[in-house]
Amino acid sequence: MKRTLPPLRSRPAVPPIYQTSVFAFDSLEQVDQAFSGEAGAFVYSRYGNPTVQALEIALASLERTEAALVASSGMAALTIAALSLCGQGDHIIAAQDLYGGTQALFQRDFGRWGIDVTLVDVLNTARVEEAIRPTTKLIFVETISNPLMKVADLSRLAALKRGFDIPLMVDNTFASPVLCRPSEWGADLVMESLTKYLNGHSDVLAGAVMGSKQLIDSMRPLHTNFGAVASPFDAWLVQRSLHTLKLRMHQHCQNAMRLAEFLASQPKVMTVYYPGLPGHPQHTLAAAQMTSFGGMLSFVVEGGYYGAAQVIKRLEWVDFVPSLGGSSTTVSHPAKTSHRGMTGMDRVKLGIDDGLIRVSAGLEDGDDICADFAQALAW
Ligand SMILES: *Cc1c(COP(=O)(O)O)cnc(C)c1O
Repeated sequence: MKRTLPPLRSRPAVPPIYQTSVFAFDSLEQVDQAFSGEAGAFVYSRYGNPTVQALEIALASLERTEAALVASSGMAALTIAALSLCGQGDHIIAAQDLYGGTQALFQRDFGRWGIDVTLVDVLNTARVEEAIRPTTKLIFVETISNPLMKVADLSRLAALKRGFDIPLMVDNTFASPVLCRPSEWGADLVMESLTKYLNGHSDVLAGAVMGSKQLIDSMRPLHTNFGAVASPFDAWLVQRSLHTLKLRMHQHCQNAMRLAEFLASQPKVMTVYYPGLPGHPQHTLAAAQMTSFGGMLSFVVEGGYYGAAQVIKRLEWVDFVPSLGGSSTTVSHPAKTSHRGMTGMDRVKLGIDDGLIRVSAGLEDGDDICADFAQALAW
């Protein structure tokens, strides 16, 4: 069977899916060119694939960085970035409210590999400065934290780390580059779980890290050996979703604002955490650092665990889905999902109440979303 491409005289308007694990060569000279890393020459899809590279180019341009590296999940991107910068005996400073997976990776796995992680309240830059050691190789924060929606002051953190020459890496998953570009506030590296808003349709797992060409190139050998590469099809789906990212973020933000205001008016709701509400402690900072306040909010319902269980059971079409950033409005319960590995005491210390429900506002009509929550709260 002959397996050659027909001669192409037309350029496809959309980057095609190069669903191939490996590339074929006609001569040893070609093999040499490909292995020496010549632009446009590919060898094996674990080292690089044109569809994945097309997504990397698009992401770097969205985040206003020189380069991007796409991996099989957000956690893979984060692991590759952190392990490229840190080895045994090194130290990381990270926010104390972190995505549950990141927290587990830092505390359980990195500890075993001899990388020490100090978790601090990053809203207090004095605490960050106190935590710096001669071995500190990375400062890691989230633009908007999970699940209490605290907003980190990126330019203050960037000014602080500059004096010590330590890279600042920002997990921008909750904001997306539409709301905030951490590189413009002084971050050296930006990480995204593409699984969430960037893909936005709850059907792909992928992740990326963006930064200078020098930093990203320094991560590629580990990425190749680690092998956590995104599939060409998944990279293609994310790239397709990027066309609607701005429109989707606009609707997510509008619906989250609407729902936050509605919930704040409800007698059974004790607290609403949303940076768009004027009473949010970092409201002014959020307004300066972001173009809008995001699609994520959380609230504490009266009655603790019982109250949360009632609301979740009574919601008619808003599903319980322990992820975020999809087209449908979903709820999650941090104490039972992302933060279930923590002791009750540790959760209380972080302010994660048993009655806390996290909402990912979807793309539906705002009236419909509020109506489902209104009837769910009427128990
Ligand atoms: C989901 C998520 C991650 C991890 O991403 P995966 O694609 O699930 O590996 C990291 N950080 C934040 C803030 C997330 O929401």
